[in-house]
Amino acid sequence: MESYVEDILVKHHCHTCRNDFILSEYQIENSEKEIMCPYCHGIIVKTYIKCGDDSEIFDILGCMSIGHHMDIEEERISYERIWEKIIELKIDNLEKEIEKLKRCKGKYR
Ligand SMILES: [Zn+2]
Repeated sequence: MESYVEDILVKHHCHTCRNDFILSEYQIENSEKEIMCPYCHGIIVKTYIKCGDDSEIFDILGCMSIGHHMDIEEERISYERIWEKIIELKIDNLEKEIEKLKRCKGKYR
Protein backbone atom coordinates (compact mmCIF):
# COMPACT_ATOMS: atom_id res chain seq x y z
CA MET A 1 0.00 0.00 0.00
CA GLU A 2 1.51 3.18 -1.21
CA SER A 3 0.21 5.77 1.20
CA TYR A 4 1.99 4.39 4.28
CA VAL A 5 4.03 6.91 6.27
CA GLU A 6 6.04 6.41 9.44
CA ASP A 7 4.91 8.57 12.32
CA ILE A 8 6.91 10.60 14.78
CA LEU A 9 7.16 8.53 17.98
CA VAL A 10 6.43 10.00 21.36
CA LYS A 11 7.48 8.27 24.57
CA HIS A 12 5.28 8.78 27.62
CA HIS A 13 5.72 8.06 31.31
CA CYS A 14 2.83 7.07 33.56
CA HIS A 15 3.04 8.65 37.00
CA THR A 16 0.58 6.14 38.46
CA CYS A 17 2.35 2.82 37.66
CA ARG A 18 5.71 4.33 36.57
CA ASN A 19 5.78 2.44 33.25
CA ASP A 20 6.79 3.97 29.92
CA PHE A 21 4.91 3.54 26.66
CA ILE A 22 5.13 4.79 23.07
CA LEU A 23 2.46 6.34 20.89
CA SER A 24 2.73 8.02 17.52
CA GLU A 25 2.22 11.75 17.26
CA TYR A 26 -0.48 10.97 14.63
CA GLN A 27 -2.37 8.76 17.12
CA ILE A 28 -2.20 11.48 19.76
CA GLU A 29 -3.36 14.25 17.44
CA ASN A 30 -6.20 12.15 16.00
CA SER A 31 -7.48 10.59 19.21
CA GLU A 32 -10.79 11.79 20.58
CA LYS A 33 -9.88 10.39 24.00
CA GLU A 34 -7.37 11.44 26.65
CA ILE A 35 -3.98 9.72 26.58
CA MET A 36 -4.27 6.71 28.88
CA CYS A 37 -1.58 4.36 30.17
CA PRO A 38 -1.98 0.93 28.49
CA TYR A 39 -0.74 -0.82 31.67
CA CYS A 40 -2.93 0.68 34.41
CA HIS A 41 -5.30 2.98 32.46
CA GLY A 42 -3.98 5.95 34.47
CA ILE A 43 -4.34 9.37 32.89
CA ILE A 44 -1.50 11.17 34.65
CA VAL A 45 1.05 10.75 31.87
CA LYS A 46 3.93 12.92 30.77
CA THR A 47 5.41 13.21 27.28
CA TYR A 48 9.16 13.20 27.45
CA ILE A 49 10.82 12.04 24.21
CA LYS A 50 9.79 12.88 20.68
CA CYS A 51 11.73 11.63 17.65
CA GLY A 52 11.49 11.53 13.86
CA ASP A 53 13.02 8.80 11.69
CA ASP A 54 16.21 8.09 13.66
CA SER A 55 16.36 4.27 13.84
CA GLU A 56 18.87 4.35 16.76
CA ILE A 57 16.33 6.22 18.85
CA PHE A 58 13.63 3.72 17.81
CA ASP A 59 15.85 0.92 19.16
CA ILE A 60 16.39 2.81 22.43
CA LEU A 61 12.63 3.28 22.72
CA GLY A 62 12.14 -0.45 22.10
CA CYS A 63 9.91 0.16 19.08
CA MET A 64 10.74 -0.26 15.37
CA SER A 65 8.11 2.16 14.10
CA ILE A 66 4.49 3.18 14.11
CA GLY A 67 2.81 4.50 11.00
CA HIS A 68 -0.44 5.07 9.21
CA HIS A 69 -1.84 5.25 5.67
CA MET A 70 -2.62 8.68 4.26
CA ASP A 71 -5.28 7.04 2.04
CA ILE A 72 -8.37 6.36 4.17
CA GLU A 73 -9.32 3.16 2.29
CA GLU A 74 -5.79 1.72 2.66
CA GLU A 75 -5.86 2.64 6.36
CA ARG A 76 -9.20 0.83 6.80
CA ILE A 77 -7.89 -2.32 5.04
CA SER A 78 -4.70 -2.28 7.13
CA TYR A 79 -6.68 -1.78 10.37
CA GLU A 80 -8.97 -4.73 9.55
CA ARG A 81 -5.98 -6.99 8.69
CA ILE A 82 -4.29 -6.16 11.99
CA TRP A 83 -7.45 -6.91 14.01
CA GLU A 84 -8.10 -10.14 12.08
CA LYS A 85 -4.55 -11.24 12.96
CA ILE A 86 -4.98 -10.27 16.63
CA ILE A 87 -8.26 -12.20 16.85
CA GLU A 88 -6.62 -15.24 15.17
CA LEU A 89 -3.79 -15.16 17.73
CA LYS A 90 -6.25 -14.81 20.63
CA ILE A 91 -8.28 -17.79 19.35
CA ASP A 92 -5.06 -19.87 19.03
CA ASN A 93 -4.10 -18.98 22.62
CA LEU A 94 -7.59 -19.80 23.92
CA GLU A 95 -7.58 -23.16 22.09
CA LYS A 96 -4.21 -24.00 23.67
CA GLU A 97 -5.55 -23.07 27.13
CA ILE A 98 -8.66 -25.22 26.55
CA GLU A 99 -6.43 -28.18 25.57
CA LYS A 100 -4.35 -27.69 28.75
CA LEU A 101 -7.51 -27.58 30.88
CA LYS A 102 -8.89 -30.71 29.17
CA ARG A 103 -5.64 -32.55 30.03
CA CYS A 104 -6.05 -31.46 33.69
CA LYS A 105 -9.69 -32.55 33.86
CA GLY A 106 -10.15 -35.27 36.39
CA LYS A 107 -6.64 -34.95 37.90
CA TYR A 108 -7.80 -33.16 41.06
CA ARG A 109 -10.73 -35.29 42.21
ZN1 LIG B 1 0.23 3.31 34.26
